[in-house]
Amino acid sequence: MSNTSQTPKVVSLTPAVFHLPEKVNAVSRSYGENPIVPRGPKFKPVLDRVRHGLVAALGADQDYEAILLTGSGSTAIAAVLGSCLRPSERLLVIRNGAYGDRIFEFSRAIGQTVIDYELPYGHRPDLAKVEALLADADAVAMVHGGTSTCTLNPVAEVGAIAKRLGKKLLMDGISSLYVEPIDLAAWNVAAVMGSCNKGLHSHPNMTAAIVRKDLLADMATFPSRTPNLELYKTWKSQVAGAHPYTIDPMSVLQVDAALSALADEGGVAGRHAIYQARCDILRPGYERLGLVIARFPEQPLQSIGTMLEIPQGTSYNALADRLANTVVDGHVFEIYSAQGKLSDRYFRLFHMGDYPLEAYRIFLRALASSLG
Ligand SMILES: *Cc1c(COP(=O)(O)O)cnc(C)c1O
Repeated sequence: MSNTSQTPKVVSLTPAVFHLPEKVNAVSRSYGENPIVPRGPKFKPVLDRVRHGLVAALGADQDYEAILLTGSGSTAIAAVLGSCLRPSERLLVIRNGAYGDRIFEFSRAIGQTVIDYELPYGHRPDLAKVEALLADADAVAMVHGGTSTCTLNPVAEVGAIAKRLGKKLLMDGISSLYVEPIDLAAWNVAAVMGSCNKGLHSHPNMTAAIVRKDLLADMATFPSRTPNLELYKTWKSQVAGAHPYTIDPMSVLQVDAALSALADEGGVAGRHAIYQARCDILRPGYERLGLVIARFPEQPLQSIGTMLEIPQGTSYNALADRLANTVVDGHVFEIYSAQGKLSDRYFRLFHMGDYPLEAYRIFLRALASSLG
């Protein structure tokens, strides 16, 4: 059935650049004919709708505000750390993966006093230890969807501890928002480092912070530390329909379209079901091929992808090369290495973006022939 005379469809099995919904692509095609001035009267309704849509899709519009920022997920990490903490506050960082390391690194860079709870990648944090460490801190930061190991961290449990002790919880939701079930208010999350790319399926150039309204009110008195990423000042400006710096209205319209595409799929619950259906095809398929899925005790797997052991007798590069260059049923596949210290032993296969289930069935055939 392979058709080598036509350009193959490239399917991305990576977590940030993948095919986007047709509604987002329609904006990309037509915007040039009709640009919007980011301070004019046409911009405010779009900004209002997107900021509201970002929290409404999470069922969090009562208690939270979304603030849009130009940049990728890391921009939201810097903005939340630099804007949602007083300089004197002691921050417990729970880290068991590459992005927890990033939170640690950024916190140190802005001069925050950090209490470091470092675990081996993928390992579940010990909740009694979290409770003991948090007693001596003012706030705690952690990743929800651990993209470097494809596992989920126990944010709800840590949130309950933070609530009991009266501490602030900052969550990196960059790879879990809009895909995994999340209840920000019930989990006691004070602020979220977000993304408009990953689970929301817009481009990787626009991001968002989501901040609980009581914290936002406190932030009016916090000194500024990350000049162009200051969330309180940016929020004030966005409520008035503007942005303190240049913002790209096309990107904002693409996020608007991505929110509309999410609603078409039945919101977060609908998208979660779509991603789970992909897991249900792929994970048993990997195991039938003799591949070993990386699992960590009491840490559920993320819905967006799977980390696997590199099989004996092959290398990541050889496998990636074969999958990218061998056309199977009109498709080729781009896969992803593991991060840093995991990359010798593991690789990752994400299933994000706008692809039909059939693409993943074809992928399993491509994988079988690349391994065989
Ligand atoms: C993708 C990701 C980030 C941010 O990465 P960028 O390099 O800025 O795109 C942060 N945290 C998590 C959990 C992620 O998956």
